[in-house]
Amino acid sequence: MTATPRLDPTSEMRLVGVSPLLVDVVRRAAERVPFQLFVVEGLRTAARQAQLYAQGRTAPGKVVTWTLASKHIDGRAVDLAPLRNGGVDWSDPKDFDAIARAMFDAASELAVRIRWGADWDADGKPRERGEGDSPHFELGSP
Ligand SMILES: [Zn+2]
Repeated sequence: MTATPRLDPTSEMRLVGVSPLLVDVVRRAAERVPFQLFVVEGLRTAARQAQLYAQGRTAPGKVVTWTLASKHIDGRAVDLAPLRNGGVDWSDPKDFDAIARAMFDAASELAVRIRWGADWDADGKPRERGEGDSPHFELGSP
């Protein structure tokens, strides 16, 4: 098992505009997962959020978001996934649990409050009510 501490250039690019507090947590977490951590999405424009919100409502596809006021818009959220053999690997929920552990450990060391899209009520039981946003982490309210 080899941990890859470094984020790839695409991930680095996607962290631009994200809150430095959250970026620090992501960097620290990246050193603690047994795969390369990939940033799927960071800062999102309001136009992009509106496009995502339309999906499954007024545009084709399945519903992927519940809000027009995502924390991605103000740089307070990131979506993370494992990168394997040059591709994002969505297949194993355990990978996302490992990312969550690394993120919460890093956040607590840095005294930053975060929330996870697979455990909104933070009771340590991921996906207990079908929360499906396993890649999503955001800064908690101050
Ligand atoms: Zn997200």
